[in-house]
Amino acid sequence: MKKRILIIGASGQIGTELTAKLRELHGNHKVVATDIREPESTIVSEGPFEILDAMDSEAIQDIVIQYEITEVYLMAAMLSATAEKFPMKAWNLNMTSLFNVLDLAKEHKIKKVFWPSSIAVFGPTTPAIDTPQNTIMEPSTVYGISKQTGERWCEYYFNRYGVDVRSIRYPGIISYTTMPGGGTTDYAVDIYHKAIKHKKYICFLSEKTTLPMMYMDDAIKATIGIMEATKGSIKIRNSYNLSAMSFNPQEVTESIKKHIPDFEIGYTPDFRQKIADTWPQSIDDKEARKDWGWAHKFSLDDMTKIMLDNLK
Ligand code: NAD
Repeated sequence: MKKRILIIGASGQIGTELTAKLRELHGNHKVVATDIREPESTIVSEGPFEILDAMDSEAIQDIVIQYEITEVYLMAAMLSATAEKFPMKAWNLNMTSLFNVLDLAKEHKIKKVFWPSSIAVFGPTTPAIDTPQNTIMEPSTVYGISKQTGERWCEYYFNRYGVDVRSIRYPGIISYTTMPGGGTTDYAVDIYHKAIKHKKYICFLSEKTTLPMMYMDDAIKATIGIMEATKGSIKIRNSYNLSAMSFNPQEVTESIKKHIPDFEIGYTPDFRQKIADTWPQSIDDKEARKDWGWAHKFSLDDMTKIMLDNLK
């Protein structure tokens, strides 16, 4: 059977670029983009696009049957900062959407599922430097709780029902095409926009808040890489640690100043500081590198150049 892909949450920061890359690889008509809202980017509407609510299992099933879908990338979720404002809504969306897709695979209506987890699965009691794959996980945000629970269910569906679900724990993702959707690492996108517009940025995290981050192209490479890997090479069925770089607002400022010397930064930490303080500073991702050949490409300075060149 030929591969046909459904992306749920395709209008978001990662979904937009994932749609573009998968369409480049497989052809526009093989990749069905869906979201609860219309896409801002024209990329998404260049192939099939449908309005779809990830909470509506029947509607997802209808699309799966209509387009003869074989693989689903579930990108719809409520992210960390927004989730703290609407905890029950976040829990309901993040869990119900996952069960809707896992159940389709359990019933053999689709063959493979990608579902992203996050570094938010870790918490204040986790070792913060080079956080290992298997470690203490006591997330203190509703987002982190939903992602950790999701990981347990992915592994359960694999062990119990043979569902081929694959997952990675994304760090903060940085890109210029679509604005981020309410996460704790959003400053690392906004800072580039403000550097170009105003040469000034007020950061909602403190200067020394180091977090794991990744340029979008690396995140897309990892996402497609784990989905293309042979089934037997995927040894971890909860979610893989994934790492590229770690930096804090001061370091990204220094990187920007190499291009915009009079760029200035100020700091007014808000509620997101508390979330960031519970997350790791760096991630040990040797299992992903060993099992399915993950390797990142972009450093902070590479990314800064790309961000500034494209936002100009
Ligand atoms: P985003 O907020 O930019 O996009 C999510 C998309 O889901 C949005 O377009 C939104 O309209 C859509 N959506 C919301 N509710 C929906 C519903 N009921 N039905 C259908 N669509 C719905 O998020 P993103 O940054 O693209 O993240 C994608 C995934 O990656 C999420 O699971 C997120 O938790 C995870 N993740 C992202 C990051 C990051 O830095 N961006 C880091 C870690 C994990």
